[in-house]
Parts: sequence; C-alpha cells; structure tokens
Amino acid sequence: MKLTKYPIIWRRDDFSIKIYCSIPNIATGILLQAGENKFVIDPGDGILRDLNSDLNAVSILSISDIFITHGHHDHVGGVWSLLTYFRVMRKKGHLNIFYPNGCVEIESIYNAFIKVYANTIPYKINLKKITDQKSITSKRVKIKPFKVIHKELLQDNLTKRVVPSLGYKFSFENQTICYGGDTAYCDSLASAAKGSDLAIIEAGNDHEDSDDMHMSISEAKSIGKTAKEYYLVHVPE
Ligand SMILES: [Zn+2]
Repeated sequence: MKLTKYPIIWRRDDFSIKIYCSIPNIATGILLQAGENKFVIDPGDGILRDLNSDLNAVSILSISDIFITHGHHDHVGGVWSLLTYFRVMRKKGHLNIFYPNGCVEIESIYNAFIKVYANTIPYKINLKKITDQKSITSKRVKIKPFKVIHKELLQDNLTKRVVPSLGYKFSFENQTICYGGDTAYCDSLASAAKGSDLAIIEAGNDHEDSDDMHMSISEAKSIGKTAKEYYLVHVPE
C-alpha cells in the first residue's frame, strides 16, 4: 500500500489514471486516459482547475465521457463547471455522462444546464443512466459497472438513506482498473477488485467499526490486497 499523497498517478503503456484529489466532503477528481481518449471520473469541485494545470484546452475539450459513482457533492461538484467550460470553449461532438439510476443530482444539474443555456450548447450531451450491471464499451474501453453500498445521514443525524451508488471496472488492452467510489465493505467490490491490475479503494471511515457508509482502513486493505496494486483513497484528513 502506498500513502495517499495527491496526485496519484498510475500508468501501464497507453492506459493511465491520475487521481488529483479524493478527500471526503471536499472533493474527488480523476482523469482516465486510454490511448488518445480521455474520461473523467467523479468530477468534484476543482476538477477544471486540476485539468487545466495538466492539459491544454484542446485536450480538455477532447474529454468524451464522464463517469459518476454517486451524487454526493464531493463527487459531482465540478460537473457544472465542466459543462459550462465545454460550452464557452465550443466543444464539438458529444459528451456521455454515465451515472447510477436514481442519482437525482446529475439529472438536476443537466436539466438546469439545458434550461439556462438552451440552444447555445455546441456539443451534444448524452445522459446515460445505468440501470443494470451490463458492460459498456466506449472508445475501446470496456466498463463494467457494479452496485456498491453507500448511505447518507439525514437531518436528524441518525436516520440513513440509501444513495444510489456504483463502482466501475475499466479494461483497456489487457489492463484493468477497479474504482469502487464510496462504499461500505461489499462483495461486489471485493470480486471486482480481485486480480485487477489496479484497485482504487476508499477508506472513508474515521473509525475501525464496520458501517454502511464507508470502509475502515483494514476493510479497504483487505480488498486492496487482492489486486496486483492498490491505493487507498478518500481517507479522512
Ligand atoms: Zn459519498
């Protein structure tokens, strides 16, 4: 296991991932590159700043797909910025946004964006709601979504509700990267991570007891160790 110091960069041949940030309640931001293709995963606040520090405008505009694990602000806070940047900078072509069924945040951001900028958006947004766990292929990358377990506390700070949440396993040219998003310990993540070339596993619990929101460090490590390499992310600071 490597200490979480951002950015985290992992590369195999033409397949790479850069985790700019993954801090609970603050922001996540991940760039995946497969050959010439660029995907963004969980664009939290600051994603545009981080992309801009790394890539030129042409490269940022070439981002074709966004993958959302769930609607919490630290995973979607930068979506509006990206959509608006693409509009102002005149992105061409299309943008796919993959998100879990029931993620009202993404649909609300999209609806507001379309309402505000109607008829002035130069690119096409394809909202891709994921309702099952079938594999998807985009730009020669195979993406296998899998359900994970994540909850949130309501105002009383006691009652919890389920947050529609997914992890994704990305495969490109015989390399696999498994990213679980935010999740409690669950079998779906354990089996997706097993044997992956890289597993990115959250350890968002600030205690060692199991719960249904996040994993403890030891739970996260027990999954991470089954992959060839792993990083723990989303560790409380
Ligand atoms: Zn979350």
